[in-house]
Amino acid sequence: MSYTPMIQQYLQIKRNYQDAILFFRLGDFYEMFFDDALVASRELEITLTGRDAGASGRVPMCGVPYHAADTYIARLVERGYKVAICEQVEDPADARGIVRREVTRVITPGTIMECLEERKHNFLVAIVEKEGIYGLAVVDVTTGLFMVTQVNGQEALLDELCRLEPAEILLPDLLPYRELSEKIRSRLSRSFISFWDPAAFERGEAIRSLQEQLGMGWNRSGLSSLPLAVLCAGGILHYLKATQKRELGHINQVEIYSAGQYMHLDAVTRRNLELTSSLKDGTRWGTLLWVLDYSVTAMGGRLLKSWLERPLLDVKAIRARQDAVEELVNDSLARQELQQLLRAVYDLERLSSRVVYGTAGPRDLLALKNSLAVLPQVKKVLGNKKACFWQDVLSDLDCLEDIVRVLDEAINNDPPVSPREGGIIREGYHPEVDRLRQASREGKNWLAQLEAREKERTGIRSLKVGFNKVFGYYLEVTRPNLNLVPPDYIRKQTLAGAERFITSELKKLEEQILGAEEKLVQLEYRIFTEIREKVAAQVRRIQRTAGAVARTDAILSLAEAAVKGNYVRPEVNDGYRIFIRDGRHPVVEQVLGPGEFVPNDVELGEDTRLILLTGPNMAGKSTYMRQVALLVLMAQVGSFIPAASGEIGIVDRIFTRVGASDNLAAGQSTFMVEMSECRVIVSAATSRSLIIMDEVGRGTSTYDGISIARALVEYIVKRIGARTLFSTHYHELTELDALPGVKNFTVAVEERGENVVFLHRVHPGRANRSYGIQVARLAGLPEEILQRAAEILQDLEFRRNGGEVNKTVPQNLPVYQEKSQPSRHPILDELIKLDLWQMTPLEALNTIAAWQLSL
Ligand code: ADP
Repeated sequence: MSYTPMIQQYLQIKRNYQDAILFFRLGDFYEMFFDDALVASRELEITLTGRDAGASGRVPMCGVPYHAADTYIARLVERGYKVAICEQVEDPADARGIVRREVTRVITPGTIMECLEERKHNFLVAIVEKEGIYGLAVVDVTTGLFMVTQVNGQEALLDELCRLEPAEILLPDLLPYRELSEKIRSRLSRSFISFWDPAAFERGEAIRSLQEQLGMGWNRSGLSSLPLAVLCAGGILHYLKATQKRELGHINQVEIYSAGQYMHLDAVTRRNLELTSSLKDGTRWGTLLWVLDYSVTAMGGRLLKSWLERPLLDVKAIRARQDAVEELVNDSLARQELQQLLRAVYDLERLSSRVVYGTAGPRDLLALKNSLAVLPQVKKVLGNKKACFWQDVLSDLDCLEDIVRVLDEAINNDPPVSPREGGIIREGYHPEVDRLRQASREGKNWLAQLEAREKERTGIRSLKVGFNKVFGYYLEVTRPNLNLVPPDYIRKQTLAGAERFITSELKKLEEQILGAEEKLVQLEYRIFTEIREKVAAQVRRIQRTAGAVARTDAILSLAEAAVKGNYVRPEVNDGYRIFIRDGRHPVVEQVLGPGEFVPNDVELGEDTRLILLTGPNMAGKSTYMRQVALLVLMAQVGSFIPAASGEIGIVDRIFTRVGASDNLAAGQSTFMVEMSECRVIVSAATSRSLIIMDEVGRGTSTYDGISIARALVEYIVKRIGARTLFSTHYHELTELDALPGVKNFTVAVEERGENVVFLHRVHPGRANRSYGIQVARLAGLPEEILQRAAEILQDLEFRRNGGEVNKTVPQNLPVYQEKSQPSRHPILDELIKLDLWQMTPLEALNTIAAWQLSL
């Protein structure tokens, strides 16, 4: 096959990027060819055309303008494609033959810099496994965040991945990882999975990558003590280098974290407690984050989210955050000022990454300057704060005056978006820029001056300066004056009544005027990139400052939430007791509105390890239990809590087994899911854990259910000793209060005739009735069904109590009254009535034929 040279070049480049859509730069467009064109035109809804490819005929093609490419790229990446950007790497004017082209960057879901959700990290995670231990490396290229950890076992790996919700997961391209990828896919359907050269994950190569990226920092990082983390960290850097094809100076330190530093929350619990995304539709509305997030910067928003996902275990660290929150709670003026100041701060983390990437434009640098410019005032507001937390923030908060000064001197107040348009550099910053700008602006002026001077010198009063496209600027002299033309005039053109000349001075001026504009744009671009590099060199300082701003904003947010929600500071300690007086559910309270929520106490400790909660449906059992879990979690985040007072003895893990799980889609029955969640709980909980179990055993027959629930309670109390809230329908279980540490609680209801009123008040004691029929009435079930249910219930209870069978109810309890049976087809009735012994075969046949006709 013979293709045109350009298509040949295309195919050669494409060969190395089979798994990506190749954006092939052609002038002002990125073009796609062959299958890529088919895919892209479908996904992007752009017109599919064709291009003559030589002897082989036309090939499919589609394209997008280069200046609008970002949104198209983002759309493709969001839909799970990789995009390879292939640029012209030499000036077409200099090219002999086909312009040289190279892929300059591969954009994948985990490495995209553009069009991302502000308040969420965009994580790329690499995984390596050996003997059941998993190393994880986590990078957010948009902020430079780089973390590693090791976890034990696949369940822990999946939990951690669910917490991170990576945009992309990177695995060595080996068979066992293909199997792992299937597991991951079934749990994290939205993460894109990429495979990469296994050699990049080998120790020697990995260490080389780490040394190259982190320099001396690599030795100091302590990473070498985590052999698997080293491998995946090296692998991830290798992948970034290969796809991004540039220096990644913003990824300059690595943080080692261990799951042991934080309260452990498995994926099920995180989902059930609706910390950052709602069970219903996955949005923020109705989540804990929704209630607590008053952050005004994107950085603060991201940090607060990760705080909620990782509550602390260390009492000192928790108190440090509480102290900081308290100081702001008590200082409304500071809160107001900080909010106002921080509102002017752009996303410093992402801005600085774009600076390092070389994708930041003039407006980004202006935003950087404006953001940094408010920091001295932020420092002033925080200056009188005593908490250690604020001292740390202040020592990290570098106002970067040197950068602000450079940017202020160099960049205009209203620069264009693109660095290639000129109009960026401020007057007075660079003499050559000023001169060129002057030249293009005042060129006309200079020509007029030259004209006047020449008239004077030659004495030709009608001499004038003109311009045409072919000869450029010229001096025109009418025929009668030709004898006055001086010898340094060079003749260019003869017309009927005049001649046109140039002089060397005029030519110089012309060059200056025409060249000035072009030169200006180029020079401004060069100066701009120099400044950008100057800023890029300071990226670590900017990142540290960004971190300090994020922490300030996150604390500010918690303080604001505390004031708005009337929260108090809980006493957090290493004890075993959890005591909350008049606690409220932060989200339900918010949704119900002021004064509507009924506060409740809880006390868990040595005497009450397990609360057995009974009460009818809708009484508020699950709200109560979730409330306890959320308040404990908030306390360990450092937040204040919605209560009159609280004492929280540190909880190492929260487990929940509540409601139906969405694992059903994965092919497990409700009961199976319930039991496997219970297995995880009993095998992982410790005496410091908090367990929430909502109606366990509901998914099977009553006796099975009661037996399993009872055995679970006994096991938790005797073997684990975890603080537990256990709600149940089975009133039989209330006898378990004979066990030490088990206490019965119930939620108050009031009977009013045939109806019940829920008081939502939790108090010691046991429920004696379920009020199921009353709740069904509230739900609007037809009265006939309710009446019938009441009869059956009465009978069942009568029998259970060993009494005679109620005469009003038939003994065999037929399913329902005849009259209510669904009406059946009249033909069936006729069929039943037929006496076959009295019919001939022909009569039977005729009857069937008649039925057929009647249908
Ligand atoms: P249960 O688990 O007992 O069936 P829920 O906890 O689901 O009941 O609560 C049912 C409804 O009652 C909730 O939707 C909530 O609006 C309301 N509710 C629960 N607890 C309270 C409370 N303490 N104060 C006010 N309303 C409450």
